[in-house]
Amino acid sequence: MEPRPEDTFMDGLIMKDTVPASDPDANVYTKFMMNHCCYDAIPTSSKLVIFDTTLQVKKAFFALVSNGVRAAPLWDNKLQCFVGMLTITDFINILHRYWQSPLIEIYELEKHKIEECREELLKYSNHALISITPESSLFDAIYSLLKYKIHRLPIIDPESGNVLHILTHKRILKFLHIFGTMIPKPRYLQKRIEEVDIGTFKRIATIQETATVHDALAVFVERRVSALPVVNEEGKVKALYSRFDVINLAAQKNYNNLNMTMMEAIRSRPCCVDGVLKCYPHETLEVIIDRIAEAEVHRLVLVDQDDVVRGIVSLSDLLQALVLTPAGIDALFS
Ligand code: ADP
Ligand code: ADP
Ligand code: AMP
Repeated sequence: MEPRPEDTFMDGLIMKDTVPASDPDANVYTKFMMNHCCYDAIPTSSKLVIFDTTLQVKKAFFALVSNGVRAAPLWDNKLQCFVGMLTITDFINILHRYWQSPLIEIYELEKHKIEECREELLKYSNHALISITPESSLFDAIYSLLKYKIHRLPIIDPESGNVLHILTHKRILKFLHIFGTMIPKPRYLQKRIEEVDIGTFKRIATIQETATVHDALAVFVERRVSALPVVNEEGKVKALYSRFDVINLAAQKNYNNLNMTMMEAIRSRPCCVDGVLKCYPHETLEVIIDRIAEAEVHRLVLVDQDDVVRGIVSLSDLLQALVLTPAGIDALFS
């Protein structure tokens, strides 16, 4: 179990020092997250799938698809505990590492069990299971998600050892969006995104529409980004390809055909968001938060008036800025 961040973050002392005098509500979201626990954010009903580490890798990814879930905790029967997570990023890492051509079967995917691939997978994540207790604050959950650069945080009951839910940035933002309406809105929400330093505006990882899926996997692995704006030669955004979309290769059983172009892969998605969810530099933070929460996506693509990609505003950026920065915790991902 991960320790809480230092208590100094929790007692409010640092917050008082860092809140700009001009905006007395600047730390309302920090306080909100400190005052609510992970248990509060668990939905009344949701699906949870757990994999035994002796399950075949291929079957595990097919099971993610057929159950409509994005990740699963891994149970080691010998150790009688959860030892990690299996996510779409792991599928990407395996495909990228072992795929050679459409004609050669990916032996590791077809024949190996999860436990036989774990060593290779741990090279990418290099940490044991990161989890949180139901009583921990949502502030602690955000801190862990951002510090360890993960997108799935299992809530484990310390008494039974059971996984209760897998917390994500999306779920936390949704919780804030629903229950945060009762708290005062900080004035900085009216600032334009071009005025505040929230998001990534340099070295944006993109992919050309003519590039192959294999090229996209290479960018996911090298840059460790969660999605790629798909652009044309002029840099205009045409679509968005996220790590989540890669699991469609398992759904359609065409993970051997990584030579297909981005546009082919985009068109073959069975269901997806219509168009690209974007934002513009002149739009306010409030508008952007409402759009991302309502669309239930992990990020918006920041574009100029010509649709040329200028940045990414991700849930990680928003949670950092709204919750951690006012507590004196500087950007945990850079
Ligand atoms: P995705 O965005 O594809 O769901 P993540 O960014 O959460 O994936 O995962 C990145 C890497 O970290 C993967 O190798 C995954 O297995 C691992 N990982 C994800 N969540 C956890 C966790 N709670 N504890 C340990 N490792 C994790
Ligand atoms: P996750 O729930 O794993 O974080 P994402 O939000 O990255 O998943 O992606 C879920 C689906 O929404 C994917 O099909 C992805 O292409 C789509 N999507 C995510 N962000 C955007 C966006 N800004 N514009 C259009 N589609 C998006
Ligand atoms: P995420 O993995 O989306 O939670 O975001 C982690 C960090 O990576 C955030 O600061 C994002 O703005 C940034 N980021 C996400 N996608 C990209 C991308 N395609 N290019 C550059 N940075 C990105």
